[in-house]
Amino acid sequence: MSDKLKFIEEKVEQLKEEGVYRKLPVNYGPCENVIELNGRKVVNLSSNNYLGLASHPRVKEASKAALEKYGVGAGSVRTIVGNQDLLEELETLLARFKEEEAVMLFQSGLNCNIGTIQAIVEKGDLIISDALNHASIIDGVRLSKADKAVYKHNDMDDLERILKEKREAYRNVLIITDGVFSMDGDLAPLPKIVELAKKYDCLTYVDDAHGSGVLGRSGRGTIDHFGLHGEIDFIVGTLSKAIGVVGGYVATKAIVKEWLLHRARPLLFSTALPPAATAATIESVKMLMESEEHTNKLWDNARYFKSHLEELGFDIGISETPITPVMIGGESKTMEFSKALLDEGVFVSGIVFPTVPKGKGRCRVMISASHTKEDLDTAIAAFKKVGQSLGVI
Ligand SMILES: *Cc1c(COP(=O)(O)O)cnc(C)c1O
Repeated sequence: MSDKLKFIEEKVEQLKEEGVYRKLPVNYGPCENVIELNGRKVVNLSSNNYLGLASHPRVKEASKAALEKYGVGAGSVRTIVGNQDLLEELETLLARFKEEEAVMLFQSGLNCNIGTIQAIVEKGDLIISDALNHASIIDGVRLSKADKAVYKHNDMDDLERILKEKREAYRNVLIITDGVFSMDGDLAPLPKIVELAKKYDCLTYVDDAHGSGVLGRSGRGTIDHFGLHGEIDFIVGTLSKAIGVVGGYVATKAIVKEWLLHRARPLLFSTALPPAATAATIESVKMLMESEEHTNKLWDNARYFKSHLEELGFDIGISETPITPVMIGGESKTMEFSKALLDEGVFVSGIVFPTVPKGKGRCRVMISASHTKEDLDTAIAAFKKVGQSLGVI
């Protein structure tokens, strides 16, 4: 190996010493309730495919038809020739779904945060961000020239303390939060955030990646769940989780969309979404708008699984959503628990420090509408067996 790269080799060695080195598991088929992980069939309790739409026949058909008509690639960024009509159709549909004025599409949720935050605040502005916000928000905040402040997770007194102290010194102040926090499944107190934003004249930005397709009527999201339509300035959603495909968007006012068309860097400098993905997304969103069948099934499954785990004596945290963190504690015990579940044919990723605080290791279960009762019963039995043998219950 070249000496020039020795420093990287040392860093990788250090990962191994710290016990956090990993290899990627390989899934040999579609992302469904049961997957073929590393060549073995296991119940999949770790995907964000909340509604099972990632391989739904209707969605696949729509995607195939677009593939035939449009080919595989958009060919350029949207501002040149990449703006295929499907993208416009999807934006119109999403704006109707979210009941907001306009939607600007991006290639992913991460891209959307990075592009939007940077475009809407600048030097002389302040961003106030929840301590547990998603990494893509943190990156978006870092890329902006605005000043930054962080409030304690969901702590409205702390948010108000910062507002009292700093509001006056800035032109625009943007409060940013996740709608649903992915590690614990808890919700941001949006009604209180809206109230504070009004009192202190601030803009509001909610990243609802885990709320869209899950909460609210037909999965319209956390804003719909709280009845706050028209009260949040920037509502981000992903098309990669419950919607089952790929992409991200911000629902906002039409004038903001016009500005983003000129200044959001992922839009200007990265190729548009492939047409087969866009067509698949259009079909997914239509299916959500037609019926609550998918979201109802998701919540039924979540209630079933959670109630059984609680009965068994597991600590399943403070989640208000289908995200179910089964709290284990120590880092090595959490990883041991996850591995023992896999031996029982159930895949649940262990999540430990630094993703969550030390001693708060958990096996995070992501329930999906695609799970059958049999899948859930297999998982519950595996949790019982491993929980007893490792002394967790
Ligand atoms: C997953 C996630 C994203 C990223 O979405 P992608 O479409 O996968 O890039 C952004 N924000 C939050 C809160 C997320 O959970």
